[in-house]
Amino acid sequence: MKEMGLSSEGLPSAKNVAIYSGSFDPITKGHLDIICRARNLFDLVVVAVADNMQKKPLFSRKERVEMVRLAIQGMEGVVADSFTGLLAHYVQERGVSVIIRGLRAVSDLEHEFRMAFMNRSLAPQVETIFLMPSEDYTYLNSTVVKEVARLGGDVSQFVIPVVEERLQRKLRRSS
Ligand code: ADP
Repeated sequence: MKEMGLSSEGLPSAKNVAIYSGSFDPITKGHLDIICRARNLFDLVVVAVADNMQKKPLFSRKERVEMVRLAIQGMEGVVADSFTGLLAHYVQERGVSVIIRGLRAVSDLEHEFRMAFMNRSLAPQVETIFLMPSEDYTYLNSTVVKEVARLGGDVSQFVIPVVEERLQRKLRRSS
């Protein structure tokens, strides 16, 4: 019983933690959908904002973490963090063995598989779990949201109000 991680009453005894990583530039309702699904499976979900030097984010890491914090406000068992360097190292340092990623469409598969296999070779004891969002968010990504906002479109159905405000403020400044 103990080896299975079950208490004598048959309830999970160990706190299980998962890390949901990404750029979150900015956090969208699609990300939030995945966070809620992950939270249904894990006691604690760490939303880990990556500082990916290859991608040129619109928002700084600090701003992205701040928006994640605002978006998860009031969600019990969900916290925000950030990391630089390899996700595999960050996850290992935290002693966590599950990475959560979202899968929207077949187009995500190749990139996500490549990342998952790379992470597996770097950290063999860590598993990547893929979750699918609600159909409403299947074609939603941060890049599209930024593009629509830049062209003056309404993004309120894709991001929470505080993120929409910051997006508009940022785009006004950078134009
Ligand atoms: P990255 O730059 O690491 O891909 P993103 O912030 O774009 O970071 O996404 C983080 C994770 O969330 C990725 O696994 C991505 O596929 C997933 N994701 C992003 N948007 C959605 C969405 N609308 N529905 C489901 N998963 C999503």
